[in-house]
Amino acid sequence: MRSLKEYRSIVGPAVLNQLEQLAGNLTGLKVVHVNSTRAGGGVAEILSWMIPFMQELGIEASWEIIGGNEAFFNVTKMFHNGLQGERVNLLKSHIEAYEETNRKNAERLCPILQDADIVFIHDPQPALLLHHCTNRKGKWIWRCHIDASRPYRAVWKYLRPHLEEYDASIFSMAQFSKALPHPQFLLAPSIDPLSDKNIDLPKNEIAGVMSKFKLDPDRPILTQVSRYDRFKDPLGVIEGYKLIRKFAPVQLVLAGGGADDDPEGAEVLREVQEAADGDDDIHVLLLPPDAHRTINALQRCSDVVVQKSTREGFGLTVTEGLWKGKPVIGGDVGGIRLQVINYHTGFLVNSPEGMAQRVRYMLNHRNMMEMMGVKGREFVRENFLLTRHLREYLTLMVGLRRGFANRLIAAA
Ligand code: UDP
Repeated sequence: MRSLKEYRSIVGPAVLNQLEQLAGNLTGLKVVHVNSTRAGGGVAEILSWMIPFMQELGIEASWEIIGGNEAFFNVTKMFHNGLQGERVNLLKSHIEAYEETNRKNAERLCPILQDADIVFIHDPQPALLLHHCTNRKGKWIWRCHIDASRPYRAVWKYLRPHLEEYDASIFSMAQFSKALPHPQFLLAPSIDPLSDKNIDLPKNEIAGVMSKFKLDPDRPILTQVSRYDRFKDPLGVIEGYKLIRKFAPVQLVLAGGGADDDPEGAEVLREVQEAADGDDDIHVLLLPPDAHRTINALQRCSDVVVQKSTREGFGLTVTEGLWKGKPVIGGDVGGIRLQVINYHTGFLVNSPEGMAQRVRYMLNHRNMMEMMGVKGREFVRENFLLTRHLREYLTLMVGLRRGFANRLIAAA
């Protein structure tokens, strides 16, 4: 595992000193993060570096995963979709499956969680554990990674009383915060620049991946990396690609894998394959969960990174693209708006037509693309690297230990 010292050349010594100073207040603190998958999706991506770095800083951090059957993950996907505004048909049987799985997980996890000083519960899947851990001694925080700007009423109505029991909650941006009777923090996610997903790669490794997937180095490449999820709008990306093909010989890569807690992936993948309709220049890839270097190479060999989501909590794939010096075409929603600044780091779009128009503009303005790439990388260095994210978590934990005022704190 890497040491934080290795980030000195990227972020400078002052940033690391500040982390050590903050963590000095937290030595020996027992902190547990809980989510529902160890691989696939942004939450797992973040927790996989956050736990070891918290440990390096002297915090007793650990990571627990809740288990569940298909019925449970179908319901939690409904919650996810509902929080992102989709009308879902929430039945009594769904609620029962959700509550029963949380109760069962609580039997195993409460002894660990009740003993912790701080517990971070990520997203709705494990949100009911709090209700069962009646002898908790620490503070419990609900961390929402979802674009909850306009939740479907029935889902929010059910979840809200459970979330109200928390001591605080964290959202990725102000637009997602909710009327809850506790302090709310705004923390944007981040990437690890030295992970396999983001580290610089040798040219021959990138060329190897291009040749493996039969990508032509002489023609432009557009890439969207995402779970096969409707909110990522892969079908809209294909529509946009088809419009672009009328004026440029682009190739499209749609790269994704499943997440253990996402049961809709297979169905969406089928729809995407159907829409690709045997076009040799649409590369629909199903990658294993550890394909980090492959994804890294695909992003690096792209001319433009796409993330045409119709809802997005943050969009680490946007950050990953920007860090690699790529302009990003992103859906004009949620956390993508924090990262894609029109004419500076890429373009925000609202339709396949908008995507096609912006790609056309970029391909005709190569100098601008390069300038956007440079700005994008610096924008990520300033705002969306793990050291900033860690600093905000540490600050929050120091605040929790000392008690904080009941107000909204913007950490951005
Ligand atoms: N990812 C991956 N393999 C895939 C699809 C996505 O490793 O097949 C990664 C991607 O590189 C990014 C994260 O999963 O780091 C997705 O995070 P994001 O915030 O973009 O979306 P989420 O899946 O959390 O909605």
